[in-house]
Amino acid sequence: MDLDALYKLTHGLYVLGAKDGDRPVGSIVDAVMQVANKPTAVALSCANTSYTKACIDKTGEFSLSVLCKGIDPFVVANFGFQSSKDVDKWANVEWFEKNNLPYLKDNLANFACRVLHSYSLESNTLFVAEVIAAQTAKEAEPLTYLDYRSYFKTDVMNSFQQYKQRGKVMSEEKKWVCTVCGYVYDGEVPFEELPDDYLCPLCGVGKEFFELS
Ligand code: FE
Repeated sequence: MDLDALYKLTHGLYVLGAKDGDRPVGSIVDAVMQVANKPTAVALSCANTSYTKACIDKTGEFSLSVLCKGIDPFVVANFGFQSSKDVDKWANVEWFEKNNLPYLKDNLANFACRVLHSYSLESNTLFVAEVIAAQTAKEAEPLTYLDYRSYFKTDVMNSFQQYKQRGKVMSEEKKWVCTVCGYVYDGEVPFEELPDDYLCPLCGVGKEFFELS
């Protein structure tokens, strides 16, 4: 089978949003299409390994933010190259919440959707969902999956490497320091997880006297 033929099917790129309890989660999806006018409905396919997909299974609700050409490549890297299980992706971008769902601030259009049906396939789950709310946010060209494959992917990968590098530098440089005596904490246990009665081994003051610097 010529799998490349499937790339001739056109898609956009979207930030999918959902809630994990109070916490917003999300990922990048490309398989979205309108499938009915009455009710206004879309189909969305998610990989079964996606943490966001597992959250949608529970809540039955999701948001879509349509990406435009010219979007910061890091947005795609942030939502596409890491899991919401480990990372608070929304903390890395500008976003807003509406009707209890998260949206990317820089979107062309956005949708709130409620799942009507879901179909399990071996690799993916297909959600058919009613569009509860829809809004055009600005006039611009939508980013397509073809854009991503033909010229955007390199920028996305580079932005992700820079982001990982920044995180590494920060975790290497930031240390908890006793503001009284200057002792630098370097224990195995992360400082945040030390018991509340932890005392500075040099001068004996409590955790509240330590600062990140
Ligand atoms: Fe101290």
